[in-house]
Amino acid sequence: MSVLPAYALDAYRTSLETRILRTGQENGRPYAVLDDTLFYPEGGGQPADRGFLGEVAVLDVQRREGQIRHYLAQPVEPGPTPLRLDWGRRFDHMQQHTGQHLLTALADARFGWPTTAFHLGESRCDVELAVPSLSAAELEALEEAIAAEIRAAHPIQARHVDAEAYAALPVRSRGLPEGHEGPIRLVEIQGLDLNTCGGTHLRSTAELEVVKLLGTEPLRGGTRLFFVAGRRARARMEAHERRNATLRTRLGAPDEELVPVLEVRLEQLRQAERQTRALEEALAQAYAQAWAAHPDPVQDHHLPDRSAAFLGVVARAFVPLAPQKRLFLTGGDPLAFLVATGPDSGVDLPNLGSAVAQLLEGKGGGKAPIYQGKAASLARREEAARAVRA
Ligand SMILES: [Zn+2]
Repeated sequence: MSVLPAYALDAYRTSLETRILRTGQENGRPYAVLDDTLFYPEGGGQPADRGFLGEVAVLDVQRREGQIRHYLAQPVEPGPTPLRLDWGRRFDHMQQHTGQHLLTALADARFGWPTTAFHLGESRCDVELAVPSLSAAELEALEEAIAAEIRAAHPIQARHVDAEAYAALPVRSRGLPEGHEGPIRLVEIQGLDLNTCGGTHLRSTAELEVVKLLGTEPLRGGTRLFFVAGRRARARMEAHERRNATLRTRLGAPDEELVPVLEVRLEQLRQAERQTRALEEALAQAYAQAWAAHPDPVQDHHLPDRSAAFLGVVARAFVPLAPQKRLFLTGGDPLAFLVATGPDSGVDLPNLGSAVAQLLEGKGGGKAPIYQGKAASLARREEAARAVRA
C-alpha cells in the first residue's frame, strides 16, 4: 500500500483492484486486511463505509492495532480482489461531515460558539456547542451564514504537512490522535477554515447543496444543535411533504390550518373521554345497585367488553350497598377477574382470591374488600364461580 489508503487520496473513488493480505476472526466475525482500501474506517464522528469485497458484503470497517479490518458477511481467502464502495452511503457521509466542518467553522469564527463534539446519526447529525442556549434568531443567522458560503462554492482540499509546518499554521482545532507520528493531514475550506481531519470530504462547499438546522436541546451545560445536509435535507423535506399531504387529507385542512384544526379535534376527544368516563361511572352504579338488590347473595357476571378498571368501579360501588354479599366478575381484554366480599360476608378473601387466580391461570392481589388480577384462561370459570359461592 502507498503511504495513504485510496479513500484518503481520492474520496470520490468508488472501485479499486487490490489484494487481501491477511484474514482472521474477531469475536466470530470474519475480517480481512487489504493492501489498499476504499473503505473509510469509523472515526472522527464519521461512520464506517459499506460495500463489497469481490461478491462478499463489507459490514463494518475499524482500525485495530494500526491496521484496517474489513468485517465481512463471510470468510475470504488471501489473494487479489476488486473493491466496490457503497457510494450513496459514502456521499451522504461526505455531505454530513463536510457540513459539520462548515457549520463548526462559522459558528466559531463568526459567532464565538466552539464545537465540542460531533455525531453523524442515521437520520440526523448534531454538534455540541459550548454555549448555554441559542435563540431562533441566532440559529437563523447561523443558517444564513452557512448558506452564503455554500453559494460561494469554496474549494475544499486535503494536504499533508510535517510537524514543524503544522506548528506554524493557523489550525482551528488541533485534534491529533494520541502518539501521532509522521505527516499531519489538514483539510482546508479555502478562505474559511483549516483543520486537522482524517475523514472524507466534498471537493466544494457547493456540493453541500444545503445545510438545514433542525433545532436544539440543552446538554451538559452546552447546546446540542441538530442539522442535516445535502440529499438528506431534501429527503427530509420529501418526508415532511408526504406527511403533510396525509394530514391535509385526513384533517380536511390546508397546511397553515393543520395545527389549529388538530387542537380542536384533540379538545373534542378530551370531551368525549370525559363523557365516556361519566357514562361508565353511571353504568357501574346501575350494575352495582341492580346486583345488590338481587336476592342471590352471590353475584357472578362476565362483562367481556369492560376493562379491569371498570370491574373495580363496580365492585367499589357494590360492597357498601351489599356488605353481606359476594361479587365475582370477569371480563376485559386482556382478561381480568375480581372477587369482592363485604365485611359481613365472613370470607377469607386472600385465600379465596388466590384460589380463583389459580383456576383462571392468573395472578392477583389486593386488600379487602377487593381481590383483583389478570387471568389467562376462562376454561375453569365455572369452578372458580363455585369456589366463590362455597
Ligand atoms: Zn473532516
